[in-house]
Amino acid sequence: MSFLKIANLRKSFGSLEILKDINLEIEQGGFLVLVGPSGCGKSTLLNTIAGLEPITSGDIAIDGRSVAGLHPSKRDIAMVFQSYALYPNMTVAGNIAFGMEIRGVPKVERDKAIKQVADMLQIGHLLDRKPGQLSGGQRQRVAMGRALVRDPKLFLFDEPLSNLDAKLRVDMRTEIKRLHQRMKTTIVYVTHDQIEAMTLATKIAVLKDGVLQQFGTPSEIYNNPANMFVADFMGSPA
Ligand code: ADP
Ligand code: MG
Repeated sequence: MSFLKIANLRKSFGSLEILKDINLEIEQGGFLVLVGPSGCGKSTLLNTIAGLEPITSGDIAIDGRSVAGLHPSKRDIAMVFQSYALYPNMTVAGNIAFGMEIRGVPKVERDKAIKQVADMLQIGHLLDRKPGQLSGGQRQRVAMGRALVRDPKLFLFDEPLSNLDAKLRVDMRTEIKRLHQRMKTTIVYVTHDQIEAMTLATKIAVLKDGVLQQFGTPSEIYNNPANMFVADFMGSPA
């Protein structure tokens, strides 16, 4: 059974239809990458999964349960954005622990969880710093730590590496892949970078103008592109 299932999903803003009859699914532990040019509807699709945007029609089911109408906080997901949105006046530890503090997790447990994710992300030596004292890559690690510490059923990433320079992007890509393998978690990841898609995904969905062009494994998409657009976009051999 698929862990996340999107069926006949349509989403309009006013009279403008942005997502057109999207059908997608990913199994538990899978890594689904949504890829396509800027403006094709990737963030909108991710936001409907998160519950940040209502859908116009169709259905989204997470772990066998329709989440239509379910508040974002009830969906057991964590989201990492392109802009890290850290609290500037809190330390790294405070940023990571913020959600747990709100939920009333005792300090001993919080500290243990902070240490665990900080070690995993190699930011253990930065816990007392403020975001302003960190590099872009370190900030992105903190944003990931804040998501990881919640141990959600589903991770959503919206172009998390697009603000980083090329070298760091490659390092973080490797890191995310390693984390996914280690945590056996399910991820939906948005990018406009086809290499990122090819290296990270177990399944790739290629979007253009809100229409799903192809859905398959990286090798299916690359070696058997469904049309010229997919071939061009993924850089498939002619
Ligand atoms: P992507 O993430 O692939 O770059 P988006 O999902 O952000 O694309 O946007 C897809 C289309 O939907 C764009 O044409 C964008 O202008 C439009 N759009 C996104 N959000 C809104 C909104 N809140 N209201 C109206 N139009 C929107
Ligand atoms: Mg976007």
